[in-house]
Amino acid sequence: MDKKRILTGDRPTGRLHLGHYVGSLQNRIKLQDEYDQFVMLADVQALTDNFENPEEVRKSIKEVLLDYLAVGIDPKKTTILIQSLIPEIAELTVFYLNLVTLERVLRNPTVKDEIKQKGFGQNIPAGFAMYPVSQAADITIFNASLVPVGEDQLPMIEQTREIVRKFNSLYGQVFIEPEALLGEVKRLPGIDGNAKMGKSLGNCIYLSDSEEELKRKVMSMYTDPNRIHPTDPGKVEGNPIFVYHDVFNPDKAQVADLKKRYQEGKVGDIEVKEKLFVALNNFLTPIREKRSEFEGKDKILDRILKDGTEKARGVAGETMKKVRKAMKIDYF
Ligand code: ATP
Ligand code: MG
Repeated sequence: MDKKRILTGDRPTGRLHLGHYVGSLQNRIKLQDEYDQFVMLADVQALTDNFENPEEVRKSIKEVLLDYLAVGIDPKKTTILIQSLIPEIAELTVFYLNLVTLERVLRNPTVKDEIKQKGFGQNIPAGFAMYPVSQAADITIFNASLVPVGEDQLPMIEQTREIVRKFNSLYGQVFIEPEALLGEVKRLPGIDGNAKMGKSLGNCIYLSDSEEELKRKVMSMYTDPNRIHPTDPGKVEGNPIFVYHDVFNPDKAQVADLKKRYQEGKVGDIEVKEKLFVALNNFLTPIREKRSEFEGKDKILDRILKDGTEKARGVAGETMKKVRKAMKIDYF
């Protein structure tokens, strides 16, 4: 039997961070043997809110690819593709736009949050507001049944499922309804205490941060704002420093001891942070090393992207044949 397909991806708007790792990359590494995995560098989507800054998007393509290779996404098992080089996705998006209302798209809670966060006010670029529709095309054009993502993407998967149902009921069964697969951590908070670590939020620890950058960021992390002195009892729940300890520190006994002393006012922030630095540095060192093996090897990197995109384009073309037939626009 053919392997089931995964489609997921990232916006090339900067390097990848710890949130990406626990939200999605970890599942991709785990599932790339079992599934036929496609991973998309979503440059078209990145341009919807970075159209004035195409240089950043272009530069980030290679940075994100390096991050993939660094964490162990294997191009022999995973097809890595560039969204803008598959025009069939844009074509399918145009047909999908007939199947959704403006009102429905603007009700998407993630889009709403992002509009606020980006300060668009009344001047929302139409392309940005519609990106979930384009994302539905990304997923379905490759017949993906599983989409490993962070929690902020659940409304996108729901929207995709609605579009699939509408398409199939109007034109006949062409697409399958994809399922989201959440990571070990659904939403990793930022180092500033924001509920989400995000590239556009400037609150990230990047997978490629140097030891010095990592140290600086960890030591400046937001903790319990009500705790002034190390002798004040502190709050552990929802405190990002302990969220990170829980996820990235394999020494569970140490974490339990730090939590206990923190709650009793018997440990300073500095010790908690220093121990977190050590745990994170141990986690990131092999990733940094693997990344450096590929850095500057442009020929190899380009080959990975070209081969992946070409393969993906073949699949997209096959799907579009079915779409044109179903929609009765397969004229000749
Ligand atoms: P941007 O700010 O440009 O949107 P981002 O940091 O949100 O960048 P994306 O490229 O939009 O990153 O997201 C890629 C994938 O990583 C998505 O599946 C998303 O849900 C997941 N992800 C991003 N940030 C987090 C996080 N803090 N916790 C868990 N998953 C995350
Ligand atoms: Mg995002």
